[in-house]
Amino acid sequence: MDMTVLSNRAKSLKPSPTLAINAKAKSMQAQGIRVISFGAGEPDFDTPENIKQAAKKALDEGFTKYTPVGGIDELKDAIIKKFERDTGLSYKRSEILVSCGGKHSFYNLAQAIFDQGDEVIIPAPYWVSYPPMVSLAGGSPVIVETTEKNEFKITPEGLKKAITPKTKALIINTPSNPTGSAYTKKELEKIAEIALSKNFFVISDEIYEKIVYDGFQFISIASLSEEMKKRTIIVHGVAKTYSMTGWRIGYTAGSEEIISAMNNIQSQSTSNPTSIAQKASVEALIGPQSEVEKMVSAFAQRRNYIVDRLNKMSGVSCCKPVGAFYVFPNFSSYYGKAYQGKKIENSTHLADYFLDVAKVAVVPGVEFGADPFERLSFATSMENIKEGLDRIQEALKKLV
Ligand code: PLP
Repeated sequence: MDMTVLSNRAKSLKPSPTLAINAKAKSMQAQGIRVISFGAGEPDFDTPENIKQAAKKALDEGFTKYTPVGGIDELKDAIIKKFERDTGLSYKRSEILVSCGGKHSFYNLAQAIFDQGDEVIIPAPYWVSYPPMVSLAGGSPVIVETTEKNEFKITPEGLKKAITPKTKALIINTPSNPTGSAYTKKELEKIAEIALSKNFFVISDEIYEKIVYDGFQFISIASLSEEMKKRTIIVHGVAKTYSMTGWRIGYTAGSEEIISAMNNIQSQSTSNPTSIAQKASVEALIGPQSEVEKMVSAFAQRRNYIVDRLNKMSGVSCCKPVGAFYVFPNFSSYYGKAYQGKKIENSTHLADYFLDVAKVAVVPGVEFGADPFERLSFATSMENIKEGLDRIQEALKKLV
């Protein structure tokens, strides 16, 4: 029988590039090569002890069965408290859905609100998974470029130009992966005004909310007005704030209509997120928050060091991130140069060069829709950061 094995959907997808580069670095490490990895998308700290204890207690108490599809009430209430405490937003249980990670929250949301032909505005640089998840749902990603000069933030002019009658939503990620930039209240007010007048949704990915520096005041666009809250769907999760990437708990806050549709989708795919991880997340969200502060202050030190070093390298420029744990330096002045006759023409060539020659893993900017750049995560020790930057500096000197 002659038949095509794979669906067009599957054929159009490539694996997540950030996971791929980490896998390559790990396989080199397994061969005994000392690779310094700036590839990580997760904090290098352990999950705080109180959170682990909550999971152990749940296990011991036999909390190991199916839970309601969209999460236990106890966790929904903790999420509601978190929103009230941190951004003054008030939600009902029916407006909250717990999923298997922030990525899953976004996936369910895309499946719930996008149809064939719907346009979704995505400012670049963007988190790698937004365009494929929009496409998988049948929507059309509309990429809007931003500039380094403007700290990689979408401007009202840039946004207006991308809007058509088919615009269904805008995605904002504040603070951002990969750039670390975050929107101020004023900037969000302008975006909100446009969203309300042009009648589209704003998907606000706030997963890095708690990882901010120098007293930056995080603002959720949903908190600007009651009208804007109705227009916003917040995607969030415990992974980054509490060093819980492996626990797979994300959550969404939005209108009852959308949350209920997402709940239906989840009920026919994954069902509930892991029961014990839900109990641990209750402790994470409403238990003591001091471990978060410690982690953020370690990140802040590394960020100052890494930005300073990169900016001192000849031909490199690097914006200072306001949040998250990534820097996104511009290396494009090296494009066109070569090592042993092999020309570096783009961010992928340069990332391969760093890995092969300097044994340093970075993620090429092109994967985030911005080829002049590379993404370096500083969720690794200061010692690694120092050595990794020394190696990058040496490797750059070899390019002629
Ligand atoms: N949103 C952004 C911007 C991210 O960087 C990530 C993780 O890399 C996620 C969402 C999803 O995180 P998780 O699925 O681990 O909760």
